[in-house]
Parts: sequence; structure tokens; C-alpha cells
Amino acid sequence: MAFELPALPYAEDALEPHISARTLQFHHGKHHNTYVTNLNKAVDGTDMANKSLEELIKETAGDSSKTPVFNNAAQTWNHTFYFNGMAPNGGGKPSGDLLNRIEQAFGSFDKFVEEFKTTAVGQFGSGWGWLVLDNGQLKCTRTPNADNPMVHGQTPLLTVDVWEHAYYLDYQNRRPDYVQAFLDNLVNWDFVARNLANA
Ligand code: MN
Repeated sequence: MAFELPALPYAEDALEPHISARTLQFHHGKHHNTYVTNLNKAVDGTDMANKSLEELIKETAGDSSKTPVFNNAAQTWNHTFYFNGMAPNGGGKPSGDLLNRIEQAFGSFDKFVEEFKTTAVGQFGSGWGWLVLDNGQLKCTRTPNADNPMVHGQTPLLTVDVWEHAYYLDYQNRRPDYVQAFLDNLVNWDFVARNLANA
């Protein structure tokens, strides 16, 4: 069965004013959709067509003969994870066990915010900022292009897309302002808590 573009978990204008409907129209309707389309083209008629995205990502990582499959499978997965990691009226502080775990790992919630921002903003060129579980420890990390922490033995908990297409219409070159708005107003902490509970 062919891979399909998942619907956004909210309306296109639901994240305004932090991320505009116009950005989501392009980001989900064009960019994300194109990764899904190109993934289907790359695996159609091969034994890869019936594998899960996670299997494709792990099995094709680092295999230069399968770069198109890896890039499009990982970008399909990364975007779905990114869109699900945001919610209208999100952001701010989580609560409960998740907040305790963050405070334990980073010293305080404010220190986590600083580290997540520095890590995501510091990605040179296109890529992703992440909160991951690594050997039982919460960490901030970043990956270039389509790369995903699961390839490196880590469990993704949250991601912010720092490709320019994610923020240029709304923030132009101001990546730090976009990442700040993501943390202040958009993070879906329930999604992060579920990912941590299932890790
Ligand atoms: Mn993107």
C-alpha cells in the first residue's frame, strides 16, 4: 500500500499568529506532500514498498545507493512528527512527570529552553532540533537535512523543523524568533509526554 500524507491534526490557521496558514499550506500541502509522493516513486515495485517508515529509515540510513528512499522516508516521518508536536495554545511549561524529568536532566525548565533553542538555532543550514531520550537520559540534539535520531539509537520526543521553508514566510531570517515562538506557544507537551511514556 502506498504511503499517504497524514492530515494536519488542526486547521491550517490554528497556529496563527505564530505560524501562518500560508506557511502550513506550503509546508504541509506542498513540501510534506512532495516527500510522500517521491517516497512512493522511490519504493514502488520494490520489496521496500510494504515496509514501515521506521523500517525504511533504519535500513537505508548510510546506504548511498538508497539515499532517495532514506531522505524521503525520513522527511515524511519527521514532518508528521513535527506537525503532531504542535498544538493551538501549546507551549510554555509541561507538568507532572515530564516536567520532573526535564528539570532532572537540564537543571531547570529555563535551562532546557535555552539548550533547546541554542541547539536548534545552531544547526548550520537545513535540519532539525530535537528533544530525545538517549540511554534513559533526556537530551537536546540536532540533525542535518533529513537525518533522524532513531538512526543514532535515540528515541525522538519532540522536534522543531529548522529548514528555512518552515519559517521564512513568517520570520524571514529570524530563526531564533521562530524557535522561541515554537517553545512559548506551540509545543504539544501531551504529545511529548506520550512519546516519553511509550519509549
Ligand atoms: Mn519542513
